[in-house]
Amino acid sequence: MIRIATAGFLHESNTFSTIPASLALWERAGILEGDAIRREYAQAQSTLSGFLALEQEDPLVQVVPLVFGRLTPMGAITQQAIEHLMQRIVGAIRDNGPWDGVLLPQHGAAVSVPFLDADGEMLRRVRELVGPDVPIGMALDMHGNISRAMVEPADVVTVYQTNPHIDARAQALLCGRLLVRTIRGLIRPRMALATPPLVVNILNQGTSDRPVADLLAVADAQRQRPGVLSVSVVEGYPYADVPEMGMSFIAVTDNDQTLADDVAQQLARAAWELRQALNQGGTAVEDALRQADTAPAGPVVLFDVGDNVGGGSPGDSTHILHAARALGIGNLLQAVCDPQVVQQCQATGIGGRITTSVGGRSDHLHGAPFPIEATVTALGDGRYEETGPTHGGFRFFNDGPSCALKTDDGYTLLLTSRSAGSSSLQQFRSLGIEPTGFQIVVAKGVHSPRPAMEPIAKALIWVATPGVTSANLSTFSYRHRRVPLYPFEPDAAWP
Ligand SMILES: [Zn+2]
Repeated sequence: MIRIATAGFLHESNTFSTIPASLALWERAGILEGDAIRREYAQAQSTLSGFLALEQEDPLVQVVPLVFGRLTPMGAITQQAIEHLMQRIVGAIRDNGPWDGVLLPQHGAAVSVPFLDADGEMLRRVRELVGPDVPIGMALDMHGNISRAMVEPADVVTVYQTNPHIDARAQALLCGRLLVRTIRGLIRPRMALATPPLVVNILNQGTSDRPVADLLAVADAQRQRPGVLSVSVVEGYPYADVPEMGMSFIAVTDNDQTLADDVAQQLARAAWELRQALNQGGTAVEDALRQADTAPAGPVVLFDVGDNVGGGSPGDSTHILHAARALGIGNLLQAVCDPQVVQQCQATGIGGRITTSVGGRSDHLHGAPFPIEATVTALGDGRYEETGPTHGGFRFFNDGPSCALKTDDGYTLLLTSRSAGSSSLQQFRSLGIEPTGFQIVVAKGVHSPRPAMEPIAKALIWVATPGVTSANLSTFSYRHRRVPLYPFEPDAAWP
């Protein structure tokens, strides 16, 4: 019997966010152990479900889930939280060993105090614990900012190859299969990492659209070369001020370092040639609203890029709402995080009237509170389940206590108590709101809302809203990024 441990933490850390990923928030989100991990993830489509699926296809493999936490993207992880997480994870691996292998379900863009590369630090500690002879596999998110420390101590690293991320399970399963073959002595993985000095704007990261689709085709061709076990295109996460911020490529071969280096370099070169196309902007707020309002049919989905909850924004931006009111455009549906007003609505009750302001409370980047006079139309606990495809393959959602409001000037607002992205239409339907009935639906995100929104949208517009996930990267001041780095230094040359 092959025994494989799996344990880890998943966080995409926006170092420009002012909300720290504290231990209290990790615990509220849930740090699961043992069978609780199986219950939450075995039937999902996420990384852990891929690791656990190894057992179904090979009765001689046992995958033991130990500890796993995941938290919505926000600011960097506090020192207390990262030490707690890593000590629990490393402690559980130590106390339940020995192991034939370890599988880490990490993200690749986790930043903590004091580790700018928290995923690399996690891997370093696990390697130190198990020693040089136990194979380690790691499956990462396509937004990882990949460091040498995330690759060199590991035997196999795979990365989602879709954005929105609908292949998390498949890539984790690939990682697990390669790890099992390594344990059995059937392959000897060699890895290469290439990091061209290049950022991909969040607006150009859709994998079914050009130019990333073109790069994925190059990756597919490289994957056909004899001896290649895995090829990963990694888009990177621009909202983390770390040295590795940017695009990267990982190649895994069977005992052929030269081949791995060549595959990674060829992809890096291909990306460099596409650098301009990988950095296009979005539509201005007023233009987007006018286009949506005059479209022959709705709903037109506006992606609120500056308030991309999946990228670390607070989910309480009011920029689009204020602009819509100034233009006299109603018939709009949007979710806003505002726990205070949810409490007011709970006290008021369904059918009750409320005069207040919503959103714009978390910081000064996401608009002013939006004044409303409204009727409360629904109250709920914010829990819903999505059985269709979702970004990251997650199935169960919890936005915290929630309510629905209809303002007297026509806006339908869904208020949540936690920052909530737009990964599922069940978010609205669980509170009796049918999104297909609106001319305009605002989605909090860039890619994560697509599986939910594309089936109902007559058109999609990416809106260049301000915020902590703005597509305009010149609004952020970086201290740790590489120099030169395209597009910050537009004349940067191929190294
Ligand atoms: Zn991602």
